[in-house]
Amino acid sequence: MMIGAIEAGGTKFVCGVGDKDGNIFERKTIPTTTPDETLERVNSFFQDKEITSLGVGSFGPVDLDRSSSTYGYITSTPKKQWDHVNLVGELKKRFSVPIEFDTDVNAAALGESLWGAAQGLDSCIYITVGTGIGVGALAEGKLLHGLTHPEMGHILVRRHPEDHYEGNCPYHGDCLEGLAAGPALENRWGKKAYDLKEEAIVWEMEASYLAQAIAQYILILSPKRIILGGGVMKQEQLFPLIHTYVKSILGGYIHHEQILSRIEEYIVPPSLGDNAGLAGAIGLVSSYKDNIKE
Ligand code: ADP
Ligand code: ZN
Repeated sequence: MMIGAIEAGGTKFVCGVGDKDGNIFERKTIPTTTPDETLERVNSFFQDKEITSLGVGSFGPVDLDRSSSTYGYITSTPKKQWDHVNLVGELKKRFSVPIEFDTDVNAAALGESLWGAAQGLDSCIYITVGTGIGVGALAEGKLLHGLTHPEMGHILVRRHPEDHYEGNCPYHGDCLEGLAAGPALENRWGKKAYDLKEEAIVWEMEASYLAQAIAQYILILSPKRIILGGGVMKQEQLFPLIHTYVKSILGGYIHHEQILSRIEEYIVPPSLGDNAGLAGAIGLVSSYKDNIKE
C-alpha cells in the first residue's frame, strides 16, 4: 500500500511516495509554474505509482473548512497565478483516491511529531523561515486549525534599534515575515542571505526578531518542542543566538527546565531535514486521519 505525498510550495512542488511509517521511497521536485503545467507534471509523476491515498501540505493561505464552498482552495496568495486555485479539486480530477489536505507547516509539524524531533510528544510547533515565515502547530495531539488556520508568521514584533528597513509584507509592511523572512534579509542588506554569513549584525537582528516571536508562541501555546526549518535556518549560527534571546525575553518566568537549562534541546532544527513536509503529508493520511485502504 503506497501513500502519495505532495509538499506544495510557492517555488517548488515536492512529490513523493511512501509507506504509513513515513518511509519515503521516491521523490521528485517540480518547479511551481502555472497551476495547469505544475499539476500535469505532478500527475505524470504519480501515473505509475498505484497510490491508495494522497496527503497534501500546501503553501497558503488555504481554505481547510470542509463545509466551505471553497474547501481545498489556495485563497488570497500574493502569487497571482495561484490566487483562488482549487488545488484539492484539481487533484481530485486526476486521482480517484482519498485526499487529506492541510498547510505545509502543519504537515511538517505532524511529520516531526510522528518521526522526527518531536517524536512522542503531543505538542510542538514547526516554524519555517524561508521565502515567507509560516508556523504549524500540534496541540494536545491535534493539528491546530481555527476560523481559518493560524498565521503566526505575521505577528508584530518590536523593531531592532538599528533596523531602518521598512519591511516587505504586502499586507502589513513590518510584521515578522516582512522583517525576517529570506527576501527581507536580502532587501535590507542588499546581498544573498548565504553571502551574509560573516556579518554579525545580520544574524543578531534576525535572531532578535525570531526570538521575540518564539517567546510569544511559548507564552500562548506552551509547545513541548519548537522546530525551526526553512532556508534561512541553514545559517546554524542563529540557533545559539535564538536560545540566548528567548531565555532573556522570557526572563525566567516560564519555570521549566527545558527553557531554563536545556533550551538547546527545546528549540531545534528539523530532524527529518528537507523531508519534514513530505513525511508530514504522508502523516496526514496515515495517522492523523483513518482513511487508509489496505
Ligand atoms: P521556500 O520558502 O520557497 O519553501 P526555502 O525554505 O529554501 O524555500 O527559503 C528560501 C529563502 O531562504 C530564500 O529567501 C533564501 O534567501 C533563503 N535561503 C536559502 N538558503 C539559505 C542559506 N543557506 N542561508 C541563508 N538563507 C538561505
Ligand atoms: Zn504580514
